[in-house]
Amino acid sequence: MSTYLTHGFVLKRRPWREGDRLYTVYTQHHGKLDLIAAGSQRANSKLASHLLPFASVEMMIAHGRTFDRLASANLETIYLKPPYHLPTVILASSFLEIIDNATKEGQAEARLFQLLLDYLRQLSSEPIIDNSAWRNQARYQLMQFIMKVLNITGLDFHIHKCEVCQDNLRAEVNFSWLRHGFIHKDCTTGAENIVALPVEVSAWVNKSASSGPTEPAELPLSFLGFLTDYLAGHTGRDLSTLKVLKSVL
Ligand SMILES: [Zn+2]
Repeated sequence: MSTYLTHGFVLKRRPWREGDRLYTVYTQHHGKLDLIAAGSQRANSKLASHLLPFASVEMMIAHGRTFDRLASANLETIYLKPPYHLPTVILASSFLEIIDNATKEGQAEARLFQLLLDYLRQLSSEPIIDNSAWRNQARYQLMQFIMKVLNITGLDFHIHKCEVCQDNLRAEVNFSWLRHGFIHKDCTTGAENIVALPVEVSAWVNKSASSGPTEPAELPLSFLGFLTDYLAGHTGRDLSTLKVLKSVL
């Protein structure tokens, strides 16, 4: 039986036949994979004890007929561990789900693995801060994470210029699905398939367009709502962590 070695993060798991589980993992060299872990529903499963969420795992994988199998797993670094800061766990869970939703099995993309690694590492090194400061920081992290995933998967858009007149964004803007980017309200014609953005999103995009790469304050939650809708529109899958995420952001 041929085997190969890689590193990965567990995105999700579900029960599979008698006593087994099917783990969805994002690997460094092979992209997203569904892998059977034999006997991993058992309480004393050695395999399961290494397949923790928010942790990098070295995996020995054996080719199988329908699904590949985890021959062995070796826990490397746990990025989030007890005692958990619950909002951080929710944010990290949404990172995992975004990667799952935005990818298809077997398409290798080392940059997505690295992105997940960078963001989990960043979360693990942050001191626990008070809630309003945490919230604002978390909104930025989520926005940047989504924008980077969109960039790597080829779905990104500019937030600095109008896709019609190419001028800098100003005043009210709409998002055009046709042009895959923001356009001035004045440049919008009837032919565009647009999303009319809430005023605060429009204002934020504007402010962000004029202030360059520095962080303008107060990222509105509705901009994150727009981004997650955009992602869902492209992937055909809603973000199930979104509802609980909204309650902590
Ligand atoms: Zn314009």
